[in-house]
Amino acid sequence: MDYKKYITIVEDWPQEGIRFKDITTLMQDGPAYKKAINELTDYAKTRNADVIVGPEARGFVVGCPIAFDLEIGFVPVRKKGKLPREVIECDYGLEYGKDCLTIHKDSIKPGQRVVITDDLLATGGTIEATTKLVEELGGEVVGLAFMIELAYINGRKKLDKYDIFSLMTYQ
Ligand code: IMP
Repeated sequence: MDYKKYITIVEDWPQEGIRFKDITTLMQDGPAYKKAINELTDYAKTRNADVIVGPEARGFVVGCPIAFDLEIGFVPVRKKGKLPREVIECDYGLEYGKDCLTIHKDSIKPGQRVVITDDLLATGGTIEATTKLVEELGGEVVGLAFMIELAYINGRKKLDKYDIFSLMTYQ
């Protein structure tokens, strides 16, 4: 399927010079969203995932339906101050800004095979921080799954020890 025709490119948002890839127009189309999730689910299945982990908020949009399809758990990674119980945290740099991600301390069991999902791979900072959180809890990151990869930013380089799958690549 040509998923790109469902993505809207928003010029100069959220700041000048950024060409924001908006996945909400893909999500609005039931069959396209389902097909995209099916492909990502097949990938997570080939990696024998025990659990799916995704950073807020669009990592939930991608990861939750995959976990649901595979009947495995989903673990949210959230910005500091959002999770109610004991967390570990990791600071990271964004394509536009800086932040701190957290995960519940008891959410991953040592040795669990984890596939991490997000809508988009840009610099890789968000996902690198997420891999650190998972690994600090003893999880094994067996795959990274994205709807979109911005190849010209080359976040892949930062994550080269991991298996990466993306539905769409922008050169
Ligand atoms: P990275 O950390 O630089 O790889 O940026 C990826 C994160 O920023 C993801 O969580 C995305 O949701 C968000 N992001 C960055 N650029 C875009 C974009 O063009 N469209 C949608 N999300 C983006």
